[in-house]
Amino acid sequence: MDEDKSKVDKLDVLSSTQSIIHKALSKLGYPEEMYELLKEPIRMMTVRIPVRMDDGSTKIFTGYRAQHNDAVGPTKGGVRFHPQVTEKEVKALSIWMSLKAGIVNLPYGGGKGGIVCDPRHMSFREVERLSRGYVRAISQIVGPTKDIPAPDVLTNSQIMAWMLDEYSRIREFDSPNFITGKPLVLGGSHGRESATAKGVTICMMEAAKKKGIDMTGAKVIIQGFGNAGSFLAKFMADAGTRVVGISDAYGALYDEDGLDIDYLLDRRDSFGTVTKLFKDTITNEELLEKECDILVPAAIENQITSRNAANIKASIVVEAANGPTTLEATKILSERGVLLVPDVLASAGGVTVSYFEWVQNNQGYYWTDEEVEGKLRTVLVEAFENIYDLSVRRKVDMRLAAYMIGVRRMAEASRFRGWV
Ligand code: GLU
Repeated sequence: MDEDKSKVDKLDVLSSTQSIIHKALSKLGYPEEMYELLKEPIRMMTVRIPVRMDDGSTKIFTGYRAQHNDAVGPTKGGVRFHPQVTEKEVKALSIWMSLKAGIVNLPYGGGKGGIVCDPRHMSFREVERLSRGYVRAISQIVGPTKDIPAPDVLTNSQIMAWMLDEYSRIREFDSPNFITGKPLVLGGSHGRESATAKGVTICMMEAAKKKGIDMTGAKVIIQGFGNAGSFLAKFMADAGTRVVGISDAYGALYDEDGLDIDYLLDRRDSFGTVTKLFKDTITNEELLEKECDILVPAAIENQITSRNAANIKASIVVEAANGPTTLEATKILSERGVLLVPDVLASAGGVTVSYFEWVQNNQGYYWTDEEVEGKLRTVLVEAFENIYDLSVRRKVDMRLAAYMIGVRRMAEASRFRGWV
């Protein structure tokens, strides 16, 4: 590889993921054919969705649904609404979902969807028409035993409800198990909304134990105030941990004495925007380099790169977002002794409780909040320990260890099915 190019971050999340999958498979001793199978989704659908806008015009939106590998079971994963969604990103996100399912032992492969749009600048009714149009467009390849969507960046339980309703109309039967992350009254699960943040908290506690950090006095910075970031800030503040920094897409707030999280949550809009209300904000880039013990990137991809990795003050980074740290930055952080809990483990709480929701829908019998939380904790603590142990035993960083564990099950399933 060219010297200069090797120093530049691979901001292309798909090729970075492919290179770690390749490493993980070769460490596990699989042949090159296995990599050829797993490096891309087995199915990728691009759709064009016409939507009647409130002003009477028609706008055509582009959407995607990627199904990475269905050897283990139906594919599963969220749908994101974001102006920067790309085909490559959706592919990478579907691979990450396969890894998460493998890590927490769910009977799924990975899937992911995305629509290029900005719901923050659309009316409620326009978002509803877009959500329904997307389900009509992908209805042939999704379903409770094929591919089960869920919320992701800028989508929520209301959007899941519209999608469920559209699917039930097309199929002409009630099918709550078609989608997860639904409102409770439509068959949602207790604990699903806060599940990603709960999972991040569980991983953070385990990581703090390994590093000998006492969480009561610890300083935490959370980048992003969406679903994961805001619930996480709440859990931290309630537990007496000092949240010294938070941010949204427009800026960041930092106070080394700790921020008033309840106040900020009260003023946050439904998309997680809050910093616009303040004058003395800093940038997201500045926030990442501020003093803290634990840093949680909970926003979007490629936030910690070779440009800022050396300046990160935290001794633990817990990735609540998908893909926030580049390959090069992962290397820099691990050389500096920072314990990095990778996205495919730290953010697996969401899909784990989605699985619980699907199981409850399938059996028509619903669990309490405590039951859901207890089961989630058991699953994630075990996954954390397995990955941490493997990383110590094989002397690899936790990301590679997580990929090795995550990829093994789908590789085995593909082998047993005679695909490779
Ligand atoms: N979108 C979430 C994720 O990236 C959850 C997916 C799901 O619940 O299926 O893990």
